Amino acid sequence: MTYETPQLTCPLCGGQEFSREEARSDSRWGFTTHRMTLMVCRRCSHVLHFYGGNSIFDFD
Ligand SMILES: [Zn+2]
Repeated sequence: MTYETPQLTCPLCGGQEFSREEARSDSRWGFTTHRMTLMVCRRCSHVLHFYGGNSIFDFD
């Protein structure tokens, strides 16, 4: 499945450059492993959290 990549905009500063970090949370709720994608604004370091294995923000 392919998504068009939406332009992510920081809600705080309006920046559009982000660093992507991925984090895993193992079985915190006892049934699955959650993958979490963190998008860190390069201007103000505001962190946006995305849950799910396949982020629609699939940057390199
Ligand atoms: Zn920002």
